[in-house]
Amino acid sequence: MTPSQIVTSLSQHVVGQEDAKRQLAVAIYTHYKKIALAEPDKAEIIKSNVLLIGPTGTGKTLVCETLARILQVPFVTANATSLAQSEYVNDEIEAILLRLIDKAEGDIGRAQRGIVFIDEIDKLKAINGQQGQMRGTSGEGVQHALLKIMEGAPVKINGEKYIDTTQVLFICGGAFVGLDESRARTRSFGFISTSEDDNQKLLDRLNERVKPTDLAEFGLIPEFAGRLPIIAHFTPLSREMMVRIMTEPKNSIYKQYCQMLHNDGVELLIEPPVFEQIADLAMEYKVGARSLRGIFEEMLTPTMYLLPDHSEVRQVRFASLFEDPKFIGTRTPD
Ligand code: ADP
Repeated sequence: MTPSQIVTSLSQHVVGQEDAKRQLAVAIYTHYKKIALAEPDKAEIIKSNVLLIGPTGTGKTLVCETLARILQVPFVTANATSLAQSEYVNDEIEAILLRLIDKAEGDIGRAQRGIVFIDEIDKLKAINGQQGQMRGTSGEGVQHALLKIMEGAPVKINGEKYIDTTQVLFICGGAFVGLDESRARTRSFGFISTSEDDNQKLLDRLNERVKPTDLAEFGLIPEFAGRLPIIAHFTPLSREMMVRIMTEPKNSIYKQYCQMLHNDGVELLIEPPVFEQIADLAMEYKVGARSLRGIFEEMLTPTMYLLPDHSEVRQVRFASLFEDPKFIGTRTPD
């Protein structure tokens, strides 16, 4: 698939985040092309792992999950915080690779071309600084352990099989709260002056780039940051994006509920102002789109409770989040 085809497929599931989708699509395309062209025992593949920066609940995990499904490669997620909570970080990493093999149904070859997403990579500094931490691994220790598998190494699993992680794509994610402010303080390249517009544009883009020094403030060691050369930014979700998330994706929550009620012969109709009210509430919860499902369920549970006792109902219509829905119609006898 070409990058633009990847973006088109992604867009059936992920709303907005267009820049991030494009950047990831190029990264993925290049990665799997390199693998396809790689000749055994020839030049080593220099892998470009990816860093996703953006607030919680804005689609970082969803994009990775969807990509893996589109490309039909095994996919697992892990969490940097829980890695750091373990005294035996290498065992935890082995467990991640084991899950990857499981996802590949035991096919090590497929697992070796899979994708691993490691979330909360921006939380490692806090862990480092925790006073009196008795157990667990330091943030730096976690990064060194991760570096080994990101750079590619044969890892012994369960004391018997080996999995080589050279071609596994690692995607790290984090909110990096405050990153923008810290970048504003450390803008560089200002001293290079150029009269050419194109050069200026390139310089502007380079200035926009997150630098390893920016990431150091979050406890990322230079070797680790250097292994994540591709950086994609996820933006906070607007109210309008929230509404689209509820209604547009192929398996959006609205479509799921419509299907559920349809199976009982009932049409579900939620009027546009309701989606806006839900979006407003979700914005207040500040966890991105994560809260949408909960609010939706809250709204629909009384209906789901009553409907089975009212087989005459043909349509349920919501006009406001704060009013009871209207139950309409009589079902024609079968
Ligand atoms: P995070 O950025 O924290 O990894 P997730 O990708 O896990 O967030 O998003 C949480 C849930 O919110 C997803 O399962 C999905 O239903 C929804 N969601 C978040 N962002 C989007 C988006 N851009 N498009 C569609 N759904 C989204």
